[in-house]
Amino acid sequence: MIPLLDLRAQYASIKGEIDAAIGAVLGDCQFHKGPHLKAFEDAFSAYIGAGYCIGTANCTDALYLCLRSLNIGSGDEVIVPAMTFIATAEAVTLTGATPVFVDIEHGSCNIDIDKAAAAVTDKTMAIIPVHLSGRAVDMVRLCRMANGPGLFVIEDCAQAAGAEWDGQSVGTWGNAGCFSFYPSKNLGAYGDGGAVVTNTDFLAYRVRTLADHGQFDKSTHHSEGICSRLDALQAAILNAKLAHLDAWNAKRRAWAIAYDDRLSAIPGIGLPNIPDDPASHVFHCYVVRVKNRDAVRARLAEKGIATGVHYQEALPLMRAYARFGHTAGEFPEAYAYANECLSLPMYPELTTDQIDYIAASLTEAVHA
Ligand SMILES: *Cc1c(COP(=O)(O)O)cnc(C)c1O
Repeated sequence: MIPLLDLRAQYASIKGEIDAAIGAVLGDCQFHKGPHLKAFEDAFSAYIGAGYCIGTANCTDALYLCLRSLNIGSGDEVIVPAMTFIATAEAVTLTGATPVFVDIEHGSCNIDIDKAAAAVTDKTMAIIPVHLSGRAVDMVRLCRMANGPGLFVIEDCAQAAGAEWDGQSVGTWGNAGCFSFYPSKNLGAYGDGGAVVTNTDFLAYRVRTLADHGQFDKSTHHSEGICSRLDALQAAILNAKLAHLDAWNAKRRAWAIAYDDRLSAIPGIGLPNIPDDPASHVFHCYVVRVKNRDAVRARLAEKGIATGVHYQEALPLMRAYARFGHTAGEFPEAYAYANECLSLPMYPELTTDQIDYIAASLTEAVHA
């Protein structure tokens, strides 16, 4: 079976470094805060080019902590794309604010910036662009759109560690950027993890305090926060893996181009639109579009090829958001995407033979 991603192959390739990193944490038993977390936060902020990095338990918390730090809550609206993982919208509702869903655009499959502009009301406080599948949102246009009405911009970079827009890392365009280190993400921990990056002193301070029970200094609490920590074991593992991220992302892009070469002439398969700037897509997922997606998927499974669906329903149409009473007709692009999207195996350790086999099998499956 060719898996959707192969974490064992990755571990085998860096086993010495990972085992040493884990050994160092066990050696000094500083499991929270301490030197291992600081080393990763410093390395990640330097890598991203942000003034601050605050480790959190996961990206959902990172998003929530940013919104809370900006005093967003009940009565406020926050714009989110209709096609993303549910965490983007959950972070909004967790604060008491209302997520306002906006359709995606056809080419990039990221939030439609013109439709986002049209969705702004006098209650809108922020927008959360999501760099879906690792493809950077056009942050020049998005920030220009957000600046007009004075919206905060919080980037959901969960799928896009290492991606850039116009030579600048995602996560540094808005007021803050939120990353996930869930194991399957491009930079994955061996458990859960997340981070907020920002250049704003005040936001960094607020996020760090709120993530630590609102603790101002030892046992002084000026407000309640939550408990959201990136632990030292994960931080040490992430620090070891960070050194490989650019090379891994380059391999993902090379496999994406290899898929394109084999599939672009095949009718009935829609390919991801690969931007001219190679740094603006890190291919967390390589997503093709096919009619009869579920049948194609089943045929690929029979041939020993695992695939994914990210995601099978547009967020506003999920039962979790039934209370908003949305209909498919309001989100035609996200609706079509949900029905047609198919994620092919994508990870650095793939081989040319596997790409050949997957492309040939997909061609056959689409025309069966
Ligand atoms: C994975 C993901 C998240 C949530 O990340 P966690 O670390 O699991 O909380 C949020 N947004 C997007 C787009 C994601 O893909």
